[in-house]
Amino acid sequence: MIVMKFGGTSVGDAERIKTVAEIVKSQIDRDPVVVVSAFSGVTDGLIRLANDAVNKNSSLEEIRNRHFDVMKDLGLDASLIRHELEELEIIIRGISLLKELTPRSLDLAISFGERMSSKILAAYMSKLGLDAKPYNAYDIGFVTDSNFGNAEILEETETNIREFFNNVKSPVTVVAGFIAKDKQGEITTLGRGGSDYTASVIGAALDAEEVQIWTDADGIMTADPKIVKGAKTIDYVSYDEASELAFLGAKVLHPKTILPAVKKNIPVKTLNTYNPTHRGTTILEKVDKQSGIISIASKKNIKVINIRSPKMFLAYGFIARIFDIFANLRIPVDLVSTSEVNISVTIDGKYDTERLVEELRRLGDVEIRNNRASISVVATRLASTPGIAGKVFSSLGDNKINVEMISSGASKINESFVVKEEDADDAVRILHEAFFGE
Ligand code: ADP
Ligand code: ASP
Ligand code: MG
Repeated sequence: MIVMKFGGTSVGDAERIKTVAEIVKSQIDRDPVVVVSAFSGVTDGLIRLANDAVNKNSSLEEIRNRHFDVMKDLGLDASLIRHELEELEIIIRGISLLKELTPRSLDLAISFGERMSSKILAAYMSKLGLDAKPYNAYDIGFVTDSNFGNAEILEETETNIREFFNNVKSPVTVVAGFIAKDKQGEITTLGRGGSDYTASVIGAALDAEEVQIWTDADGIMTADPKIVKGAKTIDYVSYDEASELAFLGAKVLHPKTILPAVKKNIPVKTLNTYNPTHRGTTILEKVDKQSGIISIASKKNIKVINIRSPKMFLAYGFIARIFDIFANLRIPVDLVSTSEVNISVTIDGKYDTERLVEELRRLGDVEIRNNRASISVVATRLASTPGIAGKVFSSLGDNKINVEMISSGASKINESFVVKEEDADDAVRILHEAFFGE
């Protein structure tokens, strides 16, 4: 069997959904399990709706019409998602009455994106004679911890999924990705972009022959094609390189997607719904290729936190104390750079830093720089390839782009550095030109 995951960009409108159904149909002999995201923009829309509900009246109108329009074009009856829309309306009213939005109620509200898209896709596929049935990921066994907004999947999920599929009868299962439940039965989500992870967890549980991630780009490319027009498809990348790229900002894959595939050595492919005959990228355990640059990734909206303390000089355990503070506040550290009396780290800009700064100040002077971006060059055998760092910094310097922090990849496959957010796209283009010639 195979897993086919279709992202929001693949289910943005009725035409796209028709294409998705055709793509599934063309591989029906491979016994596909389909995983689907919310329609593009719907998760953002639901987050806005829930936030607006705290302060003012917010209306479901836009979300409702978006789905109704697609369903009308597909010839489906609006009653299909009546129950979901009614429940969502009650939740939004609840948020507005309480004037409070907790991470738990936000997860509940945004779960409706996938809950509706999966029903619509399954109904349309059935209309084409595919006999598809929709399920929410928690109904097929996805259990997580209670870290709302970024929940971690618990081990028992794998056995649950296997048991579920031992008993399921419908030929095509359409799973609403991204969502799960904790042990108390509350709805959780896996973090933005998390339905890729849903797909690979199912793939590993069922020993899939392959996991396909269908999106709107011709596979994993030498840079984000929205930034670099001349970006090219990379035919093969290793699990390590793909994980690194995803972690360093290449949105085409959720950073956790590769982990379950590694466990079972399952190939992951990224393919283009808009160009379905394109070969895309195949991600494998080992890829036999020359050393050299693979891709340039960037991540915007990051914060640089600089801690300076003379006490750090020749002291034991100082850095450990700093990292303990981040760990206790559950703020993941991305890049790190240290000197004798100084440590700089980057974190995602979405984290609130008030408590963090308060606690770090006990250890030294703290400075925060907002609106930064990290740029990363990912290469095969980077550490043993001479001249990469030199070329990176001289081409940026020639173009007057100021580099604020450097973190050479301990992983031996990346070289990362920080620039002002407004310089990020230019930096990616300059490096792409320097290494790929366009
Ligand atoms: P989906 O809705 O299908 O999950 P995403 O928007 O999450 O799609 O991911 C696809 C996007 O990832 C592409 O449209 C592209 O802009 C972006 N992207 C970033 N880096 C890369 C890269 N190296 N290769 C391909 N796409 C990339
Ligand atoms: N719909 C979710 C999001 O927008 C999950 C996903 O797209 O994978 O983040
Ligand atoms: Mg995505």
